[in-house]
Amino acid sequence: LIRLQNLSKSFEAGGREVVALHGVSIDVQEGEILGIIGRSGAGKSTLLRCINGLERPQSGTILVEGTPVNRLGEADLAALRRRIGMIFQHFNLLSSRSVFDNVALPLELAGASRSEIESRVSDLLDLVGLADKRNVYPARLSGGQKQRVGIARALATSPRILLCDEATSALDPETTRQILALLGDINRKLGLTIVLITHEMAVVRDLCDRMVVLDHGRIVEQGAVADIFAQPRSEVTRSLLQDVL
Ligand code: ATP
Ligand code: MG
Repeated sequence: LIRLQNLSKSFEAGGREVVALHGVSIDVQEGEILGIIGRSGAGKSTLLRCINGLERPQSGTILVEGTPVNRLGEADLAALRRRIGMIFQHFNLLSSRSVFDNVALPLELAGASRSEIESRVSDLLDLVGLADKRNVYPARLSGGQKQRVGIARALATSPRILLCDEATSALDPETTRQILALLGDINRKLGLTIVLITHEMAVVRDLCDRMVVLDHGRIVEQGAVADIFAQPRSEVTRSLLQDVL
């Protein structure tokens, strides 16, 4: 569904070259939940941003449902992003819009009619359990509720892929469990493919099918979560796993 081949990306920072990704190859299977872990600065966010064309790698190829992302122009990129939902650590909601209007935004941008928007947003708010909050503004919501809005908004244009960058890092453990359960539900019910970055190994253990471990822009390990948790091969993985084993 998503194929990354030999991706490399570096940034120019203060006259110095910072390598964020180095020869990264990953195949994401349709319907799976893939976890990406690694220390701060390992290149996780950069990797995710390459998938929806927010960053362009210097070399390598990115195929999303067969579309070569790094060769798309702006108009095609906008269309691609409607097929890929994204949620963030700090939710990135618009404070001047109600819950309903936040979820409606991607549909408005896609040119949907008022009646399509009404029925789609109502369905999504039901799905994430926020039907009673439709006219509330984000400032009045808890962190977990804000992330539910973020999820509903990400799903508005019916993407087949959801990218999550530290989506539960700002939430307490109980709220984290609820949001993970919701993501698991969406994965099963809608067959949505999820790529998720996290610092929390418990998230990987409880939700993901496969995992990739990045370190200094390179993949040091990838495979089934059960296998890697049972027998981590790399030192980096072992140290990241320490808190849950
Ligand atoms: P974290 O866990 O802290 O979010 P990360 O694994 O997501 O880290 P990235 O944000 O992908 O890491 O960054 C990888 C490397 O690329 C880091 O060294 C970072 O400083 C550098 N980097 C990322 N974005 C830029 C940018 N726009 N300009 C310069 N350097 C950047
Ligand atoms: Mg990051």
